[in-house]
Amino acid sequence: MRVNRNKRTLCATLAAGLLMTATAAAQQQPVGYEDTPKLPGLPWKVHDPNRPVPPVVAPGAAFSDMAAAPADAVVLFDGTDLSKWQKPNGDEPEWKVENGYMEVTSTGSIRTRDEFGDFQLHLEFATPAKVESNSQGRGNSGVMIYGDYEVQILDSYENRSYADGQAGALYGQTPPMVNSSRAPGAWQTYDIIFEAPRWKDGELVKKANVTVLHNGVVIHHKKEYIGRTIHRRVGVYDRPHEPRGWIGLQDHRNPTRFRNVWIRELPGYDSGG
Ligand code: MG
Repeated sequence: MRVNRNKRTLCATLAAGLLMTATAAAQQQPVGYEDTPKLPGLPWKVHDPNRPVPPVVAPGAAFSDMAAAPADAVVLFDGTDLSKWQKPNGDEPEWKVENGYMEVTSTGSIRTRDEFGDFQLHLEFATPAKVESNSQGRGNSGVMIYGDYEVQILDSYENRSYADGQAGALYGQTPPMVNSSRAPGAWQTYDIIFEAPRWKDGELVKKANVTVLHNGVVIHHKKEYIGRTIHRRVGVYDRPHEPRGWIGLQDHRNPTRFRNVWIRELPGYDSGG
């Protein structure tokens, strides 16, 4: 009997060990797409599983957490209501608002009612504390600038996904320089400085570019978008638009939370007092 019990214990220990090894292996396992086109001027494909993931840089304890809005900012969400937001069809948004945050409810993405030109945007988000699924299924959302240019939101804390799809990525195009994600459930900050693309007589004369600080760490510095964000395809500038537009928050069916969202348009130099 003793032998059997010991055997059982040994088997259970081995099984647990194998499971842990399998979980760790899954964590390291490349994920992505092999049937996508190559990115221009780069050795990688869109969502390439073999593109190196950015190094992890633990952020400081606080940077712009709960940063108060400057006087010339438009407060888009102060924790109390969604009056500055709508569904894409103009209907009232149905995201949950409680305890000073709004939360994705699988009722569709939302967008600002107003439009903004080149801007500085501050927002805070928290991916779900309860970890479910993996890769792109974990805390997926996104900042959809003008609906066309995504700064990805994902739970990228010890969550392997393709590099151009992780938190802070210009989705499908450029991974963040480093991964400065906080743990699931923790509040995180994005400070995004965006310059809109410009067309003249139907010709693109300036690409969109973006600077992003994630929890106070620079992850993009005036990085140009290859084009608008398209899943599994190379981004293109095929929809000339005014150098302004609405800001969207993506509903990817994960209950990601947002708080303290404000934006200020860049006045440009020598704009007078
Ligand atoms: Mg997304």
